[in-house]
Amino acid sequence: MKRVVILGSTGSIGTQTLDVIRQYKDEFEVVGLACNSNILLLQKQIQEFKPKYVAVSDEKAAQRLPKGDFTLFDGDLAITSLCTVECDILLNALVGIEGLSPTITALKFGTTIALANKETLVTGGDIVMKLAKDNNIDILPVDSEHSAIWQCLDFNKDKKIDKILLTASGGAFRGKTKDEIKNLRAQDALKHPTWNMGNKVTIDSATLMNKGLEVIEAMHLFNMSPKDIEIIVHKESIVHSMIQYKDGSIIGQLSYPDMKLPIQVALNYPKRGDYLFSPLSFKDLTLHFETADLETFPCLKIALDVAAKRGLAPTIMNAANEELVQLYLKDKIKFYDISDNIQKALDKFASEDSLTLFNIQRVDYDVREFIKKSI
Ligand code: MN
Repeated sequence: MKRVVILGSTGSIGTQTLDVIRQYKDEFEVVGLACNSNILLLQKQIQEFKPKYVAVSDEKAAQRLPKGDFTLFDGDLAITSLCTVECDILLNALVGIEGLSPTITALKFGTTIALANKETLVTGGDIVMKLAKDNNIDILPVDSEHSAIWQCLDFNKDKKIDKILLTASGGAFRGKTKDEIKNLRAQDALKHPTWNMGNKVTIDSATLMNKGLEVIEAMHLFNMSPKDIEIIVHKESIVHSMIQYKDGSIIGQLSYPDMKLPIQVALNYPKRGDYLFSPLSFKDLTLHFETADLETFPCLKIALDVAAKRGLAPTIMNAANEELVQLYLKDKIKFYDISDNIQKALDKFASEDSLTLFNIQRVDYDVREFIKKSI
């Protein structure tokens, strides 16, 4: 039995992970669940999966959780505490920069990490990959694109390849002009065409910032230069990414878009899980591919610049983006205010300071204050 801890168990990836575990009841034991404040759902999960440890980071919410046959961690250190319990795999599905420090704690503790938290590698990639390497710990990608690349590499991240071809659905506003997009609101974006995701990721998908963050993650995970990562818009989300060898041969991973597939790949690694999903039916399947439009989606251009810069630049971009997406979700700003203000933050904050967890958290805080004040 593999013992699993899930950070962010009530979110989109967390609940889908529990869906997968429900299908593999004899192979996985849920030993820990962590959430921020969704006590109602957490309670149901506790009843069903009977974890030994539970973490609730919102202290007030934690008080609403009836006592049970588990150890409860609450407050600011709840999730960090849960990162130090015995387990075989820790799935980090937290949303936002909150996910970075738990990853570092778990790596120091020697735990294999299934990573669904984007900000871990976006902000702290160089620290995290070094820590993983020094401690000889695997970071298993859960995001569909990185899982696809990993699978194309036959789970061997050190294989020498020429290029990564990272596919993008194009988001809700794909194919529209700048003029059409400029007045579209968050609720329009939330009708996302192919994937079922949380609100923040859906907006990031509409701005293509999501793909920019994924370029930075891929750069760290597979030790590639961002110029060797090409983005290909593929609206059907059937090809989840590809790798290219120097002789021009391209290998891709295909399946219907369902996050439960990459989740089960990570959980079952190094084995292959049993049949859970219907394989593709090629009858009636037509696939389209186009290049990404950096002019209409400036967030992606910013992210590619930032990827090349490394250091604290990705943290500045990410913090500004997180704040701006929240404002866009509340209908307080317009679509292009997101990219305009991310650029302002990047111009204002120096990113030359050394990359440490402290500096990441400090810059993250300062940039958020700057965005809140300027809007
Ligand atoms: Mn993705």
